[in-house]
Amino acid sequence: MGASLPIFFDCLKCPSYCCSYPRIPVTGRDVKRLARRFGIGEEAAARRFTKKGSDPGERVLRHQQDEAYGSVCRFLDTDSRLCTIHDARPAICRDHPGTPHCGYYVFLTSERRLQEDPEFVARAYNP
Ligand code: SF4
Ligand code: SF4
Repeated sequence: MGASLPIFFDCLKCPSYCCSYPRIPVTGRDVKRLARRFGIGEEAAARRFTKKGSDPGERVLRHQQDEAYGSVCRFLDTDSRLCTIHDARPAICRDHPGTPHCGYYVFLTSERRLQEDPEFVARAYNP
C-alpha cells in the first residue's frame, strides 16, 4: 500500500467551483454507471444527464442554474454544495484536480482572508 500525497485544499470548504466548468466530459463507462445508479437504460441516461460536447462524439454533463456561479452540473446540490451522486460520479470528477493544489482554492482562501469573511464565494467571472 503506497503512502498518499498530502493535499492543500479542502473541497468541503469550497462551493464546488469545479462543478461549474461548462465542459465536464463523460465516458461510456461513466454513462453506464449513471444508468445503473438511476435504474434506467444507457441511452436514456446519456439523453437525460449529458449533452453533445465541442469535440466530435464527446458527451458532457448537463447543467442547471446556480446563484453562486451562474450555472453548475445538474448533479450538484445547490444548497449543500455537495455532489448528489458521489458514488456514481464520472471518472473526471474523481480525478480532479489531480495535483496536491487546487488553483481556485488558493484564490478562494486568499479572498476570504482579505475580506475577513470565511464564507465568501470567490467568483472567477461575473455571470
Ligand atoms: S474547486 Fe478545488 S477546492 Fe473547490 S471543490 Fe473543486 S477541487 Fe475542491
Ligand atoms: S457529477 Fe458531482 S462531482 Fe461531478 S461535476 Fe457533477 S456535481 Fe460535481
